[in-house]
Formats: sequence, C-alpha cells, structure tokens
Amino acid sequence: MSDKNNIPYKIYLEENEMPDSWYNVRADMKNKPAPLLNPGTQKPLTFEEMRGIFCDELCKQELDDTTPYFKIPDEIRKFYRMYRPSPLVRAYCLEEKLQTPAKIYYKFEGNNTSGSHKLNSAIAQAYYAKKQGLKGVTTETGAGQWGTALSMACAYLDLDCNVYMVKCSYEQKPFRREVMRTYGAKVTPSPSETTEVGRKILREFPGTTGSLGCAISEAVEAAISKEGYRYVLGSVLNQVLLHQTVIGLEAKAAMDKYGIKPDMIIGCAGGGSNLGGLISPFAGEMLRGEADYDIVAVEPASCPSLTRGKFVYDFCDTGKVCPLAKMYTLGSGFIPAPNHAGGLRYHGMSSILSQLYHDGYMRAMSVEQTAVFKAAEQFARVEGILPAPESSHAIKVAIDEALKCKETGEEKTILFGLTGTGYFDMMAYERFNNGEMVDYIPTDEELAKGFAGIPKFPGNEF
Ligand SMILES: *Cc1c(COP(=O)(O)O)cnc(C)c1O
Repeated sequence: MSDKNNIPYKIYLEENEMPDSWYNVRADMKNKPAPLLNPGTQKPLTFEEMRGIFCDELCKQELDDTTPYFKIPDEIRKFYRMYRPSPLVRAYCLEEKLQTPAKIYYKFEGNNTSGSHKLNSAIAQAYYAKKQGLKGVTTETGAGQWGTALSMACAYLDLDCNVYMVKCSYEQKPFRREVMRTYGAKVTPSPSETTEVGRKILREFPGTTGSLGCAISEAVEAAISKEGYRYVLGSVLNQVLLHQTVIGLEAKAAMDKYGIKPDMIIGCAGGGSNLGGLISPFAGEMLRGEADYDIVAVEPASCPSLTRGKFVYDFCDTGKVCPLAKMYTLGSGFIPAPNHAGGLRYHGMSSILSQLYHDGYMRAMSVEQTAVFKAAEQFARVEGILPAPESSHAIKVAIDEALKCKETGEEKTILFGLTGTGYFDMMAYERFNNGEMVDYIPTDEELAKGFAGIPKFPGNEF
C-alpha cells in the first residue's frame, strides 16, 4: 500500500534520528503565557517558592520563556529508545473506507506498557528528581495512564513513587492499579485520610468519589510535608509540554523526510500536553511567520474548557493549595458528569495552549461522547488499533474533516495525534456496545457554578 510518492504505511525514524533536544515554543511566542502566581500574594511565583514543590531543573524549565531548545539528557534518550521513535502512520485503510481524497496521518504514542504519550514526560521528571538526589515523587492519577507511566519511570530509576488515584478510578480500574503496584508504586485512593486536605474534603463531602483536582491537592501536600520528596504533574505545566515536543519533532522529521506538509493538525485536549507537544514545532513556524497550519484542539462537550471556559487566573486544584495559572478554565470546583468516560476531565488548560488559542493560532471544537466512541469503533475496525477514548476525540474530528474533503474534492493532508490505546477502558466500551452510553452537555447555569469559584482580585475580572 502506498500512494504515488511511495509513502509507506508506517514511517519509522532511525533511533539516531530521534530529536536530541526538546523545543520550547515559548521562545517564539510574542505574547508569552502568563506566569504562575503565588495565590497568597498574587505575585509571580519565584524559583525559590517553586523549588519546594518541583525539583530544581524542572523549576528552571517551567520558568524559562526564552531558551528555544533544551538538550535531552543521554539517560532519558536511552529510556526513550525502549519505545521510541514512535511510528507515523498513513491511515490508508481508513482513507479507503471513507472513500476520501484526504491524506490522513497519525502519530501513534500507545506502543508502551503505560499505553500513552505520558511516559515521555514521566521519565524526564523522574530523571531530574533522581539527579537531584531525592528519595521519591508524589503525584495524582485520574484514568491511570499518568500513574502507570510514572511508576515505570520510577522503577527504572529506582525512585519511590506515591500515587493518589481518584477514588472512582481506583475502584473501577483495578487492573490499572495493579500495573502501578507491579512497577513498585504505592497507590492511595483519593480523597484519603493520609493528608490534611483529604480529611477536610472527606468531612465536607462524605462519600465523594474524588476528582483530579482533589487528588492533586493531596499529592502536593504529601510532597511538601515529606523530606526528600517532590511533586510531579502529568500535564498542563510548561515543563510537561516541553518534554512532549518529542512527539511533534519526530512527526515533523518523518514528514519532512517524505516532503509531506500537513494542512491540518488535530489533537485531543485534556490538560494540553499531547496537543502542545504535537503542535509545538509547527506552531513555532507559524509564530515565526514561516508557514501556516490549521490547528484544532478537540475536547469533550462534557468538559469544555476552551470552547466555553473563561481565560483568567484560576486554581489548578480543588483544595486550592497550588499556584494560580492563567488559562481557559471552568473553575477549579467543576467536576464533569459521572458518565463521562476516560480522561480529558481536567477543569483547566495549559497556559501555553490557552495563550496560543487566545491569539488565534489554534481553533477548538467540542464533541459528544457517543459520537467519539462511534469514531473509535470505526477506526479500530479498519486500522486495527483499539484507541483510547481520549485519542478518539481527535479521530472523530479527523474523520469528519476527511468526509468534508470527500464532498469538496479537496486533497487535504490531515495529521492527528493517536495518544494511546484503550485496553483499560473496556468498561466504557462495554457501555457503548450495550447502547447504554449517554451524552451530557453542562448547562450555562451549571457552568456558572464553576465560574463562581474563580478567585477574584484586581485584573482577574471576566
Ligand atoms: C492523559 C491522556 C490524554 C490527555 O492529556 P493531555 O495532557 O491533554 O495530553 C490524552 N490521551 C491519552 C491516551 C491520555 O492518557
């Protein structure tokens, strides 16, 4: 299978073609993403304030808006080689099925045990913690991919790994939990009695099944109250987007090799790390005025931070212990409907992506859950890969675009991020297969409740 330019079904870079640096898109942004603020003083968070939470090297990466490239340490490259370079796939089978003149490509990040792109940042964050001589790290996990990725990275580097897992996932995803424990992580259902903030949330909301924002509060408290520990986060932060640029740099190198230029780049957006990583090198070209791309963020209609959120400073967590970030947000108290499957349930969005979106470099769309699973099923049946529900948001929009091309006759080149596999999401697939899956779109009144929790201070009006 190939087209007239002999483009193979899968483009694999050689190991020595893997990027040797991450690309920091902030260096090319005229409007820099707003800095994190100390919630007490509402002043930008300094290195000194930050280093109690994150390890030093990661604080530097977080604060650096000007250095365009960060060298990837050899030890991290060595780990990357266990599962990278990841393939760039030409979706010939999907194109044929859809009878579209569009050319569809996807960058597949699910080829590792954790099943998603999250390992790209997990190994980097664990590496810098180890290098600083720390004993361990704490984190939260929702659907479980981040916790799994971090457990793998910590096992490799012999670091202690404490994961606060959102209680409903802890109970509904026992296999995820056991993978983490197999890699040596300690997994605690959140909210728990092990932290002050956990006990407070349990008192206020007895019987709560938890949320990502609440697990973050617990993990942060556990890190700052314990000698030799730091907190790590799987998305949203600038440092995480930086590490994930390995996705976009590889995708671009593979495309350049065959003279392919995407017209459209599509990715699902939860906290924004995979999308930010995929688009960074392309967005860099746009920011420097060298090229133009149609970049699309896809989010669930049940948690629509970009399409219906406010662009303001907000808390990153429910317990309000974290710094304030300027981002598109639904309010830190927003909890998506319980029938919402999989990830992409964070109330906010990366500050970098928020700024790019605000400045018109990116579009955003929201899609409904059943339509996403229909697209996932269609994709699995022709391309073979069982996609993660998160990734399937991007599949849905890619298929819609390809069908538009069928009507117009346009031969658009579409690139999307296939961030992971869906093996641990079979409960959601079961609901879909049984016809029991429902869509839920929050009303304006429901969103207003979330907005009411956004902190009020001069300059933060909306
Ligand atoms: C975590 C996750 C996402 C969403 O997170 P981002 O930070 O927005 O990338 C998407 N897909 C998969 C498979 C994930 O595990």
